[in-house]
Amino acid sequence: MRRKLVVGNWKMHGSRPANAELLAAVLGARPYRADVAVCVPFVFVNETAAMLAGSDLRWGAQDVSAHEQGAYTGEVSAAMLAECGCRYALVGHSERRAYHAESDALVALKAQAALARGVTPVVCVGETLEEREAGQTEAVVKRQLSAVIHQLAHCAAEMVVAYEPVWAIGTGRTASPEQAQAVHAVLRAQLQAATGRADTMKILYGGSVKADNAAILFAQPDIDGGLIGGASLKAAEFIAICRAAEQAAGGTP
Ligand code: PEP
Repeated sequence: MRRKLVVGNWKMHGSRPANAELLAAVLGARPYRADVAVCVPFVFVNETAAMLAGSDLRWGAQDVSAHEQGAYTGEVSAAMLAECGCRYALVGHSERRAYHAESDALVALKAQAALARGVTPVVCVGETLEEREAGQTEAVVKRQLSAVIHQLAHCAAEMVVAYEPVWAIGTGRTASPEQAQAVHAVLRAQLQAATGRADTMKILYGGSVKADNAAILFAQPDIDGGLIGGASLKAAEFIAICRAAEQAAGGTP
């Protein structure tokens, strides 16, 4: 069985005192029999690294530049993230696709830039409500993932995928376990066709995951954990979600 992974996405939240309190609580609840990470705003990466160093908790960023280095004001490179110990970088989060006009091609380049520096891209895909209602869910997520698979080529099996239906992000509306599993199965089949190693790859579900719905979602055969937004800011809630991941994995060490 694949080990579960829970990744917190703090989005543009946090402050030094609040982060310290949250991370101390998450650290204090160790050990977890699941992999646990937090993706924090760039400015908090270093202090997160300082707090989590030496533990088995991982950290990462919420975006990464597609460029190696140079005159790209405001961008942060994968090399910089790697230097700060980031294990993960989210790429293609729906908020970046929607508010920063990130295309499938740009998302794919970002994923490639991250991997080239040893930072695992967590590639977010997901359909809008309109697309779901038009019966386009499968086509949309396959198109989004295909761009990244193509760009990463023989390294595609190194990414983590996160299925995040846009209509479920921050809305309190969660995909049913059956809806989520159906899309995860489609994505795994696509990954298998491309890499031959999809059974080793993690596909996370994201979209209003909470302590009270995590267990049933994580129990689905193709759901390997969660990308957690709002609930990752509340220590008790986030820790409970990590516990749900442990239980769903049947205590996989
Ligand atoms: C997210 O931001 O990736 C997310 C899933 O948010 P939320 O859990 O708040 O829906």
